[in-house]
Amino acid sequence: MVVVMAPHATAEHMAVVVGRVRAAGGDAFVARGRARTIIGIIGEVDQFESLNLRNLEGVADVVRISTPYKLVSREHYPDRSVIMVGEVPIGPDTMTVIGGPCAVETAEQALAAALMAKSAGASLLRGGAFKPRTSPYAFQGLGEVGLKILADVRAETGLNVVTEVITPEDVDLVASYADMLQIGARNMHNFALLQAVGASGRPVLLKRGMCATIEEWLMAAEYIAQRGNLNIVLCERGIRTFEPTTRNTLDISAIPVVQRLSHLPVIVDPSHSGGRRDLVVPLTRAAIAAGADGVIVDIHPDPKLAMCDGDQALSAADIREFACVATNLSPVVGRTLTPAPDAGMSAYGMRESAAALQRSA
Ligand code: PEP
Ligand code: MN
Repeated sequence: MVVVMAPHATAEHMAVVVGRVRAAGGDAFVARGRARTIIGIIGEVDQFESLNLRNLEGVADVVRISTPYKLVSREHYPDRSVIMVGEVPIGPDTMTVIGGPCAVETAEQALAAALMAKSAGASLLRGGAFKPRTSPYAFQGLGEVGLKILADVRAETGLNVVTEVITPEDVDLVASYADMLQIGARNMHNFALLQAVGASGRPVLLKRGMCATIEEWLMAAEYIAQRGNLNIVLCERGIRTFEPTTRNTLDISAIPVVQRLSHLPVIVDPSHSGGRRDLVVPLTRAAIAAGADGVIVDIHPDPKLAMCDGDQALSAADIREFACVATNLSPVVGRTLTPAPDAGMSAYGMRESAAALQRSA
């Protein structure tokens, strides 16, 4: 059951709802969205029937939800949500590109990749500082040094930062640098981590587990929402199938299916789904055509030297074609490509950008 609060509802009104539910033996979690606040109720619906929650001050509606996820369900919230990452919207009217290196390796590499991302149409920067690698012998990321580099690159380029957090203990540290916290496919079922990013209140990019059903993915989002954070963007990044030609199989139908079930935006990762550079542009076309609210792509100034996922990173030679697709296809499906925030690029940035593109051409 979900209690939808009226726009004018005060903190006291919400406290009364929560207090009544708890007094009746249930539990309640307040989740604040941009448009409105809702309260998810845990317990048997019949238990709360006599409370007449609908008549309490500040309550707009009380909705019984038939799906196992409630706060992220579209049943109580028919409009599609727009999630803001700083000034950058991710939602139904825009196409938002997030681009950057899979892993932050050096300050020069991260800046060069960010500038390439900007030319590709990106309005947000991705980059891993804490990397969840399949092999314990593979590069694990630069940790806090990588976060500092990302913050410097943000200052240089104006691109807000999306970066992964892999343990609950690191959430405060990562949130002190990042504008959006990424939960990777391998951690989609890490419930303590989901609760920790929920409590942080920071926008969250929740990737689908490679073996997770859509319902499990939405239940993972519910864990974040239940801790009071509805600033969630879902990311389809391919699922594991019997097909070995591609790294994963992009589940393109997940986009319209999720948009029907949930009000949250859904974006696509064409890099990790295909695992191959030559598939990034075709999968981006498919994602935009299927109604995705954005894409997140790996970009590297010199993919041959990448310490992580070089095979799937766009290089300087691919940027123009990618930018063309993002710019030209978005209006065809009624969307505007989200512009990069206007951060007057410094002379240093211009110089580095030109040099990096020259080096990798
Ligand atoms: C990533 O985006 O850096 C990543 C590790 O992706 P995934 O969690 O989808 O494998
Ligand atoms: Mn990667």
